[in-house]
Amino acid sequence: MNDKLTELKSRLREASDFNSAASVLYWDQTTYMPPGGAEARGRQIAALQKLAQERFTDPAIGRLLDDLQPYQESLPYDDDDASLLRVTRRDYERQTRLPAQFVGEMAEHSIASYQTWIKARPANDFAAVAPVLEKTLELSRRYADYFPGYGHIADPLIDESDPGMTVAVLRPLFKALREQLVPLVDAIAAQPVPDDSFIYRDYVEQQQWDFGVDIVRHYGYDFERGRQDKTHHPYMIRFSAGDVRITTRFSRNNLVDGLFSTLHEAGHAMYEQGVAQEYDATPLGHGTSSGVHESQSRLWENVVGRSQPFWSYYYPRLQAVFPAQLGDVSEGAFYRAINLVRPSLIRVDADEVTYNLHVIIRFELELALLEGKLAIGDLPDAWQASYQESLGIQAPDNRDGVLQDVHWYSGLIGGAFQGYTLGNIMGAAFWQAALRANPGVMDDIAQGEFAALHGWLRDNLYRYGRKFTADELIERVTGAPLTIDPYIAYLRGKFGELYGINGS
Ligand code: ZN
Repeated sequence: MNDKLTELKSRLREASDFNSAASVLYWDQTTYMPPGGAEARGRQIAALQKLAQERFTDPAIGRLLDDLQPYQESLPYDDDDASLLRVTRRDYERQTRLPAQFVGEMAEHSIASYQTWIKARPANDFAAVAPVLEKTLELSRRYADYFPGYGHIADPLIDESDPGMTVAVLRPLFKALREQLVPLVDAIAAQPVPDDSFIYRDYVEQQQWDFGVDIVRHYGYDFERGRQDKTHHPYMIRFSAGDVRITTRFSRNNLVDGLFSTLHEAGHAMYEQGVAQEYDATPLGHGTSSGVHESQSRLWENVVGRSQPFWSYYYPRLQAVFPAQLGDVSEGAFYRAINLVRPSLIRVDADEVTYNLHVIIRFELELALLEGKLAIGDLPDAWQASYQESLGIQAPDNRDGVLQDVHWYSGLIGGAFQGYTLGNIMGAAFWQAALRANPGVMDDIAQGEFAALHGWLRDNLYRYGRKFTADELIERVTGAPLTIDPYIAYLRGKFGELYGINGS
């Protein structure tokens, strides 16, 4: 048994190494590569990913998993070896169901649709992407068909990024959330709008950079096993347990864009840095789902990074860095400005409260498309109607409407968005549990201390990697299945106080 397990691990490591090498090339492509490198780089990344895919779906892996089945069954569920075998089998069965020819077709279409979208969005040309989207929808349906027995056609697509999550669970969860959010947004909109003009004064980039780096260092992001670089669309990327990087961007005339993007990506990276080192280069060696990942990025960005105790510590320090820009702005005014709630058109710029409505709109549209209840040609109008209904606004054109997100134009339709809102809901549940275990966390934050919170998250969430699914983690940590209650309580508490809205 031991020999077979060693052989399995060695084969898994090789597949993982090809993927990580592709990731390094991608990181370089989006940070330092000169434009001339683009064409060859796309090819080089694809070549490595193909090798990784071939290694991972090698029938030898299937035989080893079969041979090791009795060993797996002899072990407790949460044993490391048992978990490795269980998760590897799930990935293996999933990936071997998709024919290589189909995977190739998807990859090719994804590149072509991205190229079309890159030109169509600035030109406000939905007609140009419509035929591409038709094909994307067809591929998405075919994808689902490789997983017969699903409850809803979107389930296999959702399962890819949020294993175990289904439409049957998400639809009522999101519906209940929307019913709570719409009146909250309305009540806030009836209040005076706080002044946030000082956020858009002139802030030197290097000082913004240094301030953000100082915070994430205090958070516990380990720069001995990571680094930060600049890119257009910030992301976190893991090459190994010892190298988990973040990227960010800055704007001279927007103090918060770069700062909160740094805090967000550091949250993702601390999760990855916290995964048990011995899981590295195996299927256990990553965060467990897009929802749990987003729960951590948004916890460090919003729940901690936009909290009142946090800024009671950091605001005097920020003022000292930017005395000319913020000398005349009180801590309270700054706190209100960074938590300003306002219905807006662009998801990625949305505040904590309205953000979920952006996500739920997209989730529902994806389901309607996959169910055949909505035609691609009617998507722009459906988009506008949804925004009118949920947020009371409409985009002047498709550029800031249906063309705004890259997701449908670089991947499949279905499964692309639910993780963002799921992350907010889960983040609040984890946060509540963290506060129960460490009642002093808020006082710590007001002192610029994050070790107890970070340690608790590492011990109860991060270290497990993919050993447990999101559902299992929620049950273990909170003792109950996922509900929206902690999240609603969090939003009501914070924004009720900020906007002087009581109860309801
Ligand atoms: Zn994120």
